[in-house]
Amino acid sequence: MLLPCCLQADDYYRVHFDDRLHAVEVEACFDGPAPGQLYRSNQAARFTEWIRTKSRDISRYSYGSRLTLPELPNDACVSWRVNLKQAAGQKDNRLALSLDGSIITDGDLWFWRDGEHRPILVEVVLPRGLSISTPWKERASPKGKLGSNPVFRPTPTPASWSSRIAIGHFDVQRIPVAGTELRLATIGRLNARQHETISAWIKENAKAVASVYGRFPRQTPQILVIATGQRGEAVPWAHVLRGGGAAVEFFVDETRSLNSFREDWKATHELSHMLLPYVAQDDRWLSEGLASYYQNVLRARDGRLSEQQAWQKLHSGFERGRAGTNSGSLARATIHSGWGTIMRIYWSGAAIMLKADSKLRMLSGGRQSLDSALAALQECCFDRERTWQARELFSEFDRITGTSVFTDLYREHVENDQFPDLEYTFAQLGLVLRSDSIEFDPDAPWGRIRCRIMKG
Ligand SMILES: [Zn+2]
Repeated sequence: MLLPCCLQADDYYRVHFDDRLHAVEVEACFDGPAPGQLYRSNQAARFTEWIRTKSRDISRYSYGSRLTLPELPNDACVSWRVNLKQAAGQKDNRLALSLDGSIITDGDLWFWRDGEHRPILVEVVLPRGLSISTPWKERASPKGKLGSNPVFRPTPTPASWSSRIAIGHFDVQRIPVAGTELRLATIGRLNARQHETISAWIKENAKAVASVYGRFPRQTPQILVIATGQRGEAVPWAHVLRGGGAAVEFFVDETRSLNSFREDWKATHELSHMLLPYVAQDDRWLSEGLASYYQNVLRARDGRLSEQQAWQKLHSGFERGRAGTNSGSLARATIHSGWGTIMRIYWSGAAIMLKADSKLRMLSGGRQSLDSALAALQECCFDRERTWQARELFSEFDRITGTSVFTDLYREHVENDQFPDLEYTFAQLGLVLRSDSIEFDPDAPWGRIRCRIMKG
């Protein structure tokens, strides 16, 4: 069907949470022909109470992570109901977690979407007084049509990319940072001072990442912070998610001081991941390497680390990576990754980033750097969400910078059994080791580059 320019054809989902957050009902109405399949968590079937069209039950069409839709007329609707209470009652709470009157679930437990990148609008009916935190872009409701319920447009990402959605008693705090607005939701029982600590910590780290090229790499990312109570460290665990939009989920010990949050590297690391599009798992030496490099560089740039401390931490990381290099090439170690290869993967990637950054700065007389290459990458290549291979991302970096720096490094190190050699780079930069402690050689040929890396 041809539509006038302004009326985009959308599938329309209406999501209804019950008052006690025990269940969610979703009605998906498709624009024109229905998609062939809907994708969801492979655990969703266990908690799904029914699936039906307007006229019949179609539960038998569901299998594992797929619902294969029967033949349906144009503009048909399909509904389903998922038992959240049961899902959150499992011992393993990775799929759904109930915390202080809120529920946090994997999006694909109940938000089942096509694999065709169809445009979707999602209207959410929430119990009175409750909020929702999603990675989806919030849309202003056209007057009169949608009432006062929030309406979202998920970014059309691959159906397999995961997301986290929280509903409950919390505020979604909007934190403006360099051209974007973070949407921070902190879940758990926190006092006002703890809330302030969390937002100051998130803000500082987002600013650090925005300093790479003057703006934060993603629009309105979702930041979900789950307060777990006392733990051995301020941020026991965190990860980036990309389904439906960019997001980071942090598990934190909310009782810690702002200082102990500031001393933790994980927020800088996780938010730095947003400087790249999604890189294939088998190539994650690249995404983890970039985040491991910047977690130290950016903390030096905003003064949380001295230049010496940042170089020292990079050096210690490279040493751990070297010690963990014993299972073949970097490509092989990444594909067969396990606990034994984590250091090899992360710090080989970081070593490659240091080499790329230094070389670009040297070749261009300081006009180019890893920072400027990432800025150009965001401009050219962030509009369509897809999975990138390291090889094609490195070719893109070479195209952007007009050099062969990245593909040369790829060729040298990715199929190589050894940890990337850093002797020459360290010597040029003037990084000298004295009994494992980094000192600076004031006369080094790339001394200026060494300073610029840590000063931005
Ligand atoms: Zn990471």
